[in-house]
Amino acid sequence: MSLLFHSTNGQSPPVNLRDALLTGQAPDRGLYLPREFPRLTPAEIAGFAGLPYHDIAFEVLRRYAEGVVDEPSLAELCRDAYNFDVPLESVRGLERAAVMRLDQGPTCSFKDFAARMMARLLGRFVRETGRRLAILTATSGDTGSAVASAFHGVESIRVIVLFPISEVSDRQRKQMTTLRGNIRTIAVDGKFDDCQALVKRAFADPALKSIPLSSANSINVGRLLPQSVYYFYAASRLARPGEPTVFAVPSGNFGDMMGAVFAGRMGLRIKRLVVPVNGNDEFPRFLATGAYAKIEPSRACLSNAMNVGHPSNLARLVAVYGGQMDETGAIHRAPDLAALRRDLFSTSVSDDQTRVTIRQAWTGHQLLLEPHGAVGWRGFLDYVGTEPLNGAPAVVLETAHPAKFPEEIEAALGFAPAVPPALAALDQLAEDYDRLPVDYAAFRDYLLAGLGRG
Ligand SMILES: *Cc1c(COP(=O)(O)O)cnc(C)c1O
Repeated sequence: MSLLFHSTNGQSPPVNLRDALLTGQAPDRGLYLPREFPRLTPAEIAGFAGLPYHDIAFEVLRRYAEGVVDEPSLAELCRDAYNFDVPLESVRGLERAAVMRLDQGPTCSFKDFAARMMARLLGRFVRETGRRLAILTATSGDTGSAVASAFHGVESIRVIVLFPISEVSDRQRKQMTTLRGNIRTIAVDGKFDDCQALVKRAFADPALKSIPLSSANSINVGRLLPQSVYYFYAASRLARPGEPTVFAVPSGNFGDMMGAVFAGRMGLRIKRLVVPVNGNDEFPRFLATGAYAKIEPSRACLSNAMNVGHPSNLARLVAVYGGQMDETGAIHRAPDLAALRRDLFSTSVSDDQTRVTIRQAWTGHQLLLEPHGAVGWRGFLDYVGTEPLNGAPAVVLETAHPAKFPEEIEAALGFAPAVPPALAALDQLAEDYDRLPVDYAAFRDYLLAGLGRG
């Protein structure tokens, strides 16, 4: 018997993991959520203390994959996907607090965790069903490189990444444009919002019906499930059995923090989920007032991967708390606001505060943070100011490697971070990408010609 996923809009039939991943968004434009969360017993969770990361991933994910992926294959996929370190760095001067560095994967961002598992699962599902698949994704930097790297060389899957020509750093661009093979990258003469609009239109275009398109952004539940694993992992290393942990998650589209919500529903004890955002403060306002207003266009902040004025995963959070929000952000049934306020703490961190925090974390705790991690750290400190930890274990997520943001680090600290080999190697590689204007007809012709070639 397989676990079923239902749509947050409630108008599509429930599906298993395979169909949820292959479809991405539900036909009623809602997002897939497990109908019921699988529960782990306290003894099972306590047992994680002795397991390596990839075994914890297997133990968590097998509850969702039952009847769809056999256990030996899933265990192998986990071993293969999670072949890098997940350091928990203790913080000088703060007992039982740690920074979890999710930046040791091939593209040095936490998005590797989800993209690598999703690529392996989708590759398998495409093979089993004898299909071909084209994955379209718009990126402001980190998603495109993690997805491109994860899907590189996966048979029968083509990936097309659109990025705004002047809004990504050289290193981010090279992470996508040096792969070739089944990965095509398009530099769009426009902004990230233009790239996203082109991709959205392609998904809705009847003229492209013959091409099986899927999305690799965090509307796909395949991106969320792997992101619940590292919360179990961190607690297994820091907390005593059954002891609640504080997690602080710098957030944009809320895929990462939903991983923690999933983990909590599966049985992980969470004392408080701290959700710091940058200047795009629609969520802390919602939590404070109960009224939701998205920010359009989103505000350009230092932590650019979190420049989101309407988090697409908010509909999932609202659904888990008993409400209903549609894809436009309209709330049709209010969530349990009191429960949300009990479980979550959210705060907005300005660019000035982000810069100051990079400095203070370094001078005060010898902690090297890039802008996203600094937003997380600052939000954590704001939380501790309202509710003392009283000895509880706490984990702050660092979502990217500092070497991806050398200018910001240099400006704040006066030195540039050491570059890991995965990023340094890029400088030697030749780039290859196409260029398009912001013109939907041109993009459609590109897709029809390119994907027609097989
Ligand atoms: C994508 C990203 C985030 C935001 O994650 P969400 O799941 O969208 O909330 C934070 N930090 C970095 C470095 C990212 O790339």
